[in-house]
Amino acid sequence: MTCWKDLLSPYLMGTGGLAVRDPANGELVAAVADHGPREVEAAIAAAEAAQPEWAERPAKARAAILRDWHDLILAHAEALAQLATLESGKPLAESRGEVGYAASFIEWFAEQAKRVNGEILPSPWPGKRVLVHKQPVGVTAAITPWNFPLAMITRKAGPALGAGCAMLVKPAEATPLSALALERLAHRAGVPEAVFRVLPSSAAAAVGSVLCASPVIRKLSFTGSTAVGKVLMQQAAATVTRLSLELGGSAPFIVFEDADIDAAVAGALASKYRNAGQTCVCANRFLVHHAAERAFVDRLAAAVNAMTMGHGLAPGTQIGPLIDRRAVENVHALVADALAAGATLAAGREWQADDGSFHPPVVLTGVTPHMRIAREEIFGPVAAIIRFADEAEAVAIANDTPYGLAAYVYTRDPARTWRLMDRLECGMIGFNEGIISTEIAPFGGIKESGLGREGSHHGIEEYLEMKYCLLGGMER
Ligand code: NAP
Repeated sequence: MTCWKDLLSPYLMGTGGLAVRDPANGELVAAVADHGPREVEAAIAAAEAAQPEWAERPAKARAAILRDWHDLILAHAEALAQLATLESGKPLAESRGEVGYAASFIEWFAEQAKRVNGEILPSPWPGKRVLVHKQPVGVTAAITPWNFPLAMITRKAGPALGAGCAMLVKPAEATPLSALALERLAHRAGVPEAVFRVLPSSAAAAVGSVLCASPVIRKLSFTGSTAVGKVLMQQAAATVTRLSLELGGSAPFIVFEDADIDAAVAGALASKYRNAGQTCVCANRFLVHHAAERAFVDRLAAAVNAMTMGHGLAPGTQIGPLIDRRAVENVHALVADALAAGATLAAGREWQADDGSFHPPVVLTGVTPHMRIAREEIFGPVAAIIRFADEAEAVAIANDTPYGLAAYVYTRDPARTWRLMDRLECGMIGFNEGIISTEIAPFGGIKESGLGREGSHHGIEEYLEMKYCLLGGMER
């Protein structure tokens, strides 16, 4: 079995560079080259030179390379999972799941690359033909977060490379190692070096500005916070660079009085506590009908009190560290604010200095929609329970947010299911399901949760331009 150090050997630096630390204990994992604006400019120029040849290859040839990349990712699954845990902190079982999820996008877009069909439209004129031709947008860029250090890259690189684009990736400063390991495997599979580059950097803002200002970069795909997404949107305006934005969320998790409570608790545990609550689709606000509240809270609290917190590599760990001390302080402040405003701890306890970068899993009851914890993205293992009286109130609270990414609804009423499909303002809904992500479905949000969709057969369209061609002189 290849160990992660072998996989990363060309990138590892003895001294200097970008230091990557284990969020659980602050220990140095590895150091790699730190790319500034100058190196990024050089990578853009190289990608511009290399992309046309990549685009000219038959889709089937690009697809075969992507397929090999997929196979290599799975062949190195354990090394990749260990890396993802070491630099992001998530439990190893979750990292193993992420490797499979990340690989699924490469497999899917290897298949979709072969289905980029143009159109021939019925001509309104005699002797003329109307065609729609699809072409790769050109050189693209991605800026990605630390919470899914593998999958947030493959969800973008799969469709970009499949469509015939080049892609430059600036991974999160905290998690460049998983990204570099993916790059190594892509090159080994046959993706030309300049066509897919990973550029770790400690100068995110400067690199973001270079990518947005460059006339060569025709598309930027960003996953991260809404605040940074807005900055990039402003910068991209100068060059009218096409954008995909996968931003923050505040998912409501609604439990109606007719719900299967055991299923709702299982869904809540999966949706809320995965990655210690640090996913964009994590349930952020639990809206629970007053008639279901006692049973739901009792069972959720019992499960949360039994959770094991520890290093992500330790067997049995369910809750790893948060990404850094600042993240812990933010979650602690939200919990303290809610308690001061009248909420109650139904499970877990407040964070203490001894906990370091770990935040204990918590259930809070008596939360109201106006508390900070109900209005901000928590990004920690805290379930905030808000009681509601009827469906209209639940929908009003659910939609009272600038975000619109995911929602979860537990009900056995088919008519209510259809009503909420229409009425909830979001891009994705899990009905009686707490985990919704799959490569075959369109992932993305509305309102301030973003623009565009990733995955599914729609995902590749984000990397394609349509060119309308009118062919005259076609008389019989
Ligand atoms: P973030 O601070 O916005 O960072 C995301 C990426 O942007 C990182 O690579 C970061 O680099 C970079 N960045 C920061 N400031 C920048 C700037 N001024 N210009 C250009 N790039 C910049 O978000 P995060 O804390 O890493 O990730 C958590 C957020 O991502 C949450 O809001 C979560 O909901 C969201 N998210 C959304 C999805 C989705 O699919 N909708 C998926 C996952 C996460 P550095 O690391 O060097 O700061």
